Amino acid sequence: MSQQKVDLRSDTVTRPTPAMRRAMAEAEVGDDVFGDDPTVRALEEEAARRLGKEAALFVPSGTMANEIAIAVQAGLGDEVLVEATSHVILYEGGAPAALAGAQLWPLTGDRGLPSVDDLNAAIRPEDSHCPRSRLFCLENTHNRGGGRVLPAAEVRALLSAARAHGLLAHLDGARIWNAAVASGTSEAELAAPFDTVAACFSKGLGAPIGSVVAGSRAFLREAHRWRKRLGGGMRQAGILAAAALHALEHHRDRLREDHAHARRLAEGLAELPGLAIDPARVETNIVVMGVSEGAAAPAQWVSALEAEGVRIVPFGRRGLRAVTHLDVDAAGIDRALAVFRAHAARLARG
Ligand SMILES: *Cc1c(COP(=O)(O)O)cnc(C)c1O
Repeated sequence: MSQQKVDLRSDTVTRPTPAMRRAMAEAEVGDDVFGDDPTVRALEEEAARRLGKEAALFVPSGTMANEIAIAVQAGLGDEVLVEATSHVILYEGGAPAALAGAQLWPLTGDRGLPSVDDLNAAIRPEDSHCPRSRLFCLENTHNRGGGRVLPAAEVRALLSAARAHGLLAHLDGARIWNAAVASGTSEAELAAPFDTVAACFSKGLGAPIGSVVAGSRAFLREAHRWRKRLGGGMRQAGILAAAALHALEHHRDRLREDHAHARRLAEGLAELPGLAIDPARVETNIVVMGVSEGAAAPAQWVSALEAEGVRIVPFGRRGLRAVTHLDVDAAGIDRALAVFRAHAARLARG
C-alpha cells in the first residue's frame, strides 16, 4: 500500500493553505486591545452578521468563547443546565466552576438532545436552599453525538421550555458551519433561539487559531472584560482574523465535501466485521463507531491503523472516532478504508 498519511483524528489538524497564508501575510493589523485592528473588526462584523447577532468578539479558542458566555450569563452559585456529554462539561477543564463559580447540572440526552420533560424537572424551585437555575446550553453539531445536527423542532421546544422558566440560553456552535451546510438552514437561524453563540474557525473551516462568541451589544461589553480577565486580549490579531475571514469565504460551502467523505467512510466501515456503525447517523464530518463485543480494544485498532499511517482516536470506552476535513480528499478516504479492510478481520476476533 502507498504510504500516504491520512490524519482523521480531528478537523483541527488542518494546515493553513497557501492562499490562507497569503491572506494572513497581507492582513492590515493594529493593536486589537486598543480596538485598532481593522481585520479583527471586519471579522467580528462578518461573524456577527452570519450568526445573526448584534456583535461578536474574536477569541483564541472555542473553550474561551463558551466560558465567556457562561461567565457573563451565570454567576457565583448559579446553575447551568447542560447536556451530559457536551464539550462544556467533558472537555473544558471544569472552567464554569473554576472561573465563573457556576455549577453545572447535566441533563441526560439522546445524542446531544435532552428531553423537555427532563429540562422541566431540573428547574430549581425559588427556595434559599437551591442554586438558581440560570442558563441552558446546547451543542450543534454535537461532537459526542457523532456530529449530529440537532433537529430544529426539538431545539425550539426545549428553548421555549427554558424561556418559560426565565433561563438564558447559549449555543456551543463550534461546528455550527457544518450544521448549517448539512441542514440547509442558515447559521443565523440555528442561533436565533439563543442569547449567545460560540463558533470556531479552527475546526472544519481550517483556520489555524480562533473562535468568536456573539450576542447582544450589552453582552459584548461584559464579554470584552472577561476576555481580558482570561488573558485573551491579543494585539496584532488581524493576522489570525485574516485566516478566519478567508476560511469563511472559501471553506464554508465546501464542508459538504467533508460530509460526503464521512458518509462514504461510514458506508465502507459498516461492511466490516468488528465495527458497529449506522451510516444514516453520519450527518456531518464526524464518524463515530462502536467496537463490537469480543473484538480488539479501541486502542489496538488505533495502533494497527497508525502503523500504516491512518490516524483515528479512541472514543469513549468502546468506540472510535474519525473526522473528515479540508486536508483529506477522496483518495485519502479510499486509503483509510483499505487499511481498515486489511486489519478488520483480525481485530474483530479480539
Ligand atoms: C472543539 C470544540 C470546542 C472548543 O474548542 P477549542 O478551540 O479546542 O477550545 C467547543 N465545543 C465543541 C463542541 C468542540 O468540538
